[in-house]
Amino acid sequence: MQREAKCKHCGEWNILSNENVPCSTCAKPLSEISADEKASLERRNLAGEIKIRINPNDPWFLRMLKRMFNLAQLIFLSILSFILWVIFAGPG
Ligand SMILES: [Zn+2]
Repeated sequence: MQREAKCKHCGEWNILSNENVPCSTCAKPLSEISADEKASLERRNLAGEIKIRINPNDPWFLRMLKRMFNLAQLIFLSILSFILWVIFAGPG
């Protein structure tokens, strides 16, 4: 069975006879993830990580500040979900 891959560089469809075969139209690698894609993937990972990482080497006040920030965010999210619950499950 033949697999086909769309070239990210020129948009042409290529038949993949084996891995790491270059594009037949523009001769650029097909399977390679571009730097832009990699950057956007990393950005998505960062956005998913809302919580601040607490470094054990941080001074005590910084650790407390970070912990407070994480706690405040948790409270905010619970209030938000409560409000949504009231809107959707409440009378009316
Ligand atoms: Zn191409």
